[in-house]
Amino acid sequence: MDSYQQLWDFQKLDLEADKFEREVRTSPARQKLIKNRDFLLDQQNTMKKIETDIQNMSERIVQLTLESAKIEEALSDLNETLQETEPESPAIAQKSLDACQKLLSQISKIEQDLNKIKKDGEARSRQQHDVRIRAARVKAEFDTIKASYDVEYKEQTAKLDVLRKQAAAAAVGIDEALMTKYKAIKQHKVPAVARLNDDRCGGCNMNLPAVVLRQIKMGEKAVDCENCGRIVLV
Ligand SMILES: [Zn+2]
Repeated sequence: MDSYQQLWDFQKLDLEADKFEREVRTSPARQKLIKNRDFLLDQQNTMKKIETDIQNMSERIVQLTLESAKIEEALSDLNETLQETEPESPAIAQKSLDACQKLLSQISKIEQDLNKIKKDGEARSRQQHDVRIRAARVKAEFDTIKASYDVEYKEQTAKLDVLRKQAAAAAVGIDEALMTKYKAIKQHKVPAVARLNDDRCGGCNMNLPAVVLRQIKMGEKAVDCENCGRIVLV
């Protein structure tokens, strides 16, 4: 058998193996697994974000509590001073009173902030809970599909291995340069080898130029299609 005919036979098996490999890659179970895995990764990221938020909130709570304690201390100092010493004038008394008011409103502002953070924290905790439940459900589904998919995948891998070996066996003896050329064309055009079809390339359907047709008449067994680059078997 000549190298070109052998290449033709090899191509058939090679493409069969490629087709099966594509089927394996796009199997519904595999797609579902990928979808679930992506979802779980997404939930993990959400979880991390919530944890960071909660961490930031507790740091802020500590900070605000310290601030509040400091202001309360200042307030009680001020009260003490007011009780111990009679103000020298009504204007000075008013000034002390204003200072008290200011400190009190600062404390109330901090309390508002603390309440808001507390509420946000509760919302985050609820969100965390929901994410956990959702993720657990999807993880269970993932594990079930994965168990059956593992069996399926093992069978598919074995079958693909057989197909690849059949193709490899059919490739034995094909001229090395021809095989290199085949692989290079296959990167862009599939199938890489076409048949001659009424003076046309069976791959792209373009008429072969007269000079190439003359080569065929002279007994050439294969020519290159100038249009698509395929090997055209006569
Ligand atoms: Zn062509």
